[in-house]
Amino acid sequence: MTFQDLNLNTPLLNALEDLKFDTPTPIQEQAFSSIMSGKDVVGIAQTGTGKTFAYMLPILRMLKYSEQKNPRVLILVPTRELVVQVREEIEKLTAYMNTRVTGIYGGTNINTQHSDLLQGLDIIVATPGRLYDLILRRAVQMKSIQKLVIDEVDVMLDLGFRFQINNIIELLPQNRQNIMFSATMTEAVEEIIDISFKQPIKISVAISGTPLDNIEQRGYKIANFHTKVNFLKDLLKDKETYTKVLIFVAYKRLADRLFQSLAEEFPEECTVIHSNKTQNYRLRSIKQFGEGFCRVLVATDVMARGLDIENVSHVINFDTPEYPENYMHRIGRTGRAEKEGISFLLSTEKEQDNLEKIENLMNMQVPQYELPENIEISTVLIPEEQPKIFEINNPNKRGDEDAPGPAFHDKSEKNSKENLGGSYRREIAKKYKKPQTRGDKGANRRHKK
Ligand code: AMP
Repeated sequence: MTFQDLNLNTPLLNALEDLKFDTPTPIQEQAFSSIMSGKDVVGIAQTGTGKTFAYMLPILRMLKYSEQKNPRVLILVPTRELVVQVREEIEKLTAYMNTRVTGIYGGTNINTQHSDLLQGLDIIVATPGRLYDLILRRAVQMKSIQKLVIDEVDVMLDLGFRFQINNIIELLPQNRQNIMFSATMTEAVEEIIDISFKQPIKISVAISGTPLDNIEQRGYKIANFHTKVNFLKDLLKDKETYTKVLIFVAYKRLADRLFQSLAEEFPEECTVIHSNKTQNYRLRSIKQFGEGFCRVLVATDVMARGLDIENVSHVINFDTPEYPENYMHRIGRTGRAEKEGISFLLSTEKEQDNLEKIENLMNMQVPQYELPENIEISTVLIPEEQPKIFEINNPNKRGDEDAPGPAFHDKSEKNSKENLGGSYRREIAKKYKKPQTRGDKGANRRHKK
């Protein structure tokens, strides 16, 4: 298939010709007819798949020339860099069209952006925070938005933009087309789809069920976090084999916890990235890992998404992802460019359902291996693994087995005193041998006699 086969118009075809693009990428092919249908669309695609053109081509195909002031297309992206990049891509595609595009992002003068918006525009590419500020200043109105694109929504949610996204969505007309692109599927992403999208068409690429042939997959059933850590520490001792190890975990807290445990044993060899780390920290981590100064990188799914790191010797799925697509993305980070890669999948009892979903998607079983005998099985559970106690009738009542036991340590001298109550009275009594109270005065006198 070529771009000529899509229902494009001459200005777009000319622009593509200038760019020397003749064949649509798979996501572009799939997205075109779905978006042209006018229905809501959810696309699962990573950077590098051509996803920007995948949504821009049909949007530009449908966008009619207009001189109206208020924007008709809103594209929300997570970072300033992406605003710039998407705006540039749009400018390339609209070389033969009269389309007004503005990029809005934080960290620069808001007044300049305010006056840019007042000029009138067709397409607005923005980070949610700054756009919302400008809406509050009445620099731009959302009432004529016909198409909303949320790009890299997983990153956006991970960066904590949920509130701003919701605020902006509330200001949009009901009658609009929603388009979303995300590299990974998470519960938070699904929630936005459930709330704001109308029976979306779902498209995806690269997450075909077939894993790359040159990736060897190994599954291990491991009881808990600490035993998984023991296993990893044992593997990583072999520095010649485990030269560039990318470890995936589901969420930030777990990433920090795992990083700390591994760094105890392998200081200077491990690094970590997730969205609570500063941009500088993340860039440094990626550089250290990419250039081989650190051989272990612990990363959350979302953060590892955009990484372009070569020669990963091993991918370790420290947990078993709930969304099988994430597993496909994770293991795809190794075994690239004709090189053999090895992927480990560690699953607890609770994660067996997730493992099943992954195996169903791939239509193959992950070969299971026995945990080597020298690995110490830990019985210590991290807080997330501890069973939650639910009481049905009386939330304040404790069963005997849950009653607080004695402290593990001896009480300090100060705290070990028994509280007998009425301390003033006791002090006085000690001094005068007998209670000095009004009623006792007579008794004392009697005593003196
Ligand atoms: P994206 O996934 O949108 O970040 O795009 C990745 C890169 O691929 C960008 O530099 C695009 O300009 C380029 N690209 C997009 N579509 C095509 C295509 N059909 N053929 C060749 N390159 C493309």
